[in-house]
Amino acid sequence: MERPYDDIRENLKRIRETMAQAALASGRLPEDVQLLGVTKTVPPDRINAALEAGVTAIGENRVQEFLEKRDALHLEGAGVHLIGHLQTNKVSKIVGLVDMIESVDSVRLAKAVSDASVKSGRVTDILVEVNIGREEAKSGVFSENLEEMLEEIRLFPGIRVCGLMTVPPILETEKEKRAIFSQMYKLFIDIKGKNRDNVLMNVLSMGMSGDYREAILEGATLVRVGSALFGRRAYPPR
Ligand SMILES: *Cc1c(COP(=O)(O)O)cnc(C)c1O
Repeated sequence: MERPYDDIRENLKRIRETMAQAALASGRLPEDVQLLGVTKTVPPDRINAALEAGVTAIGENRVQEFLEKRDALHLEGAGVHLIGHLQTNKVSKIVGLVDMIESVDSVRLAKAVSDASVKSGRVTDILVEVNIGREEAKSGVFSENLEEMLEEIRLFPGIRVCGLMTVPPILETEKEKRAIFSQMYKLFIDIKGKNRDNVLMNVLSMGMSGDYREAILEGATLVRVGSALFGRRAYPPR
């Protein structure tokens, strides 16, 4: 008989196996790559089942949705990342409630996160979102503007720049997927090599359900997996 949440446990096992193989193939250890369970539109009972099964960090897209679900989540010891587009007027609601904001895509937003963090006496870990595929409909900075942005935001006292995040275009072939992730990795290593104060470059967040294996093969340290873990989303995220 199927027990409730068996699907999540089985999916998790499969994802971890794929992740471990890809990590080893890229010359790293399985524990060098972190899994973020993406929980947008997923109800709290299923999120809790994933946490119980060993998922150590979750990613939510929308501030409002996270605030609504938060009290029902068993988050003891688990990390929470904000991964969706963040408006500056929502910043003060989320700072202090998440461990990392992955989707910082402008100096203005970085400043807002820093200001809110300083005000509440903390430093917030952030990633800068890069629009690697230069897609009009997507947020993220273009790679040629990244250095200038980092020079500016690294001086903000309320944030720590931990790395880069990207949502690449949807591509069909393994070769195409790997090529774009490889571009991101080069950018990441380039910036890391410059060793700027307050720009750590320890986290490279890339890869989702359809391409996390390729992302790890090309150097991702964090993959954001939703539907492969929880099943198809019942309703589209707003
Ligand atoms: C929804 C989402 C994911 C996960 O997508 P899946 O294809 O369901 O794994 C990852 N990152 C971001 C930014 C997302 O919005």
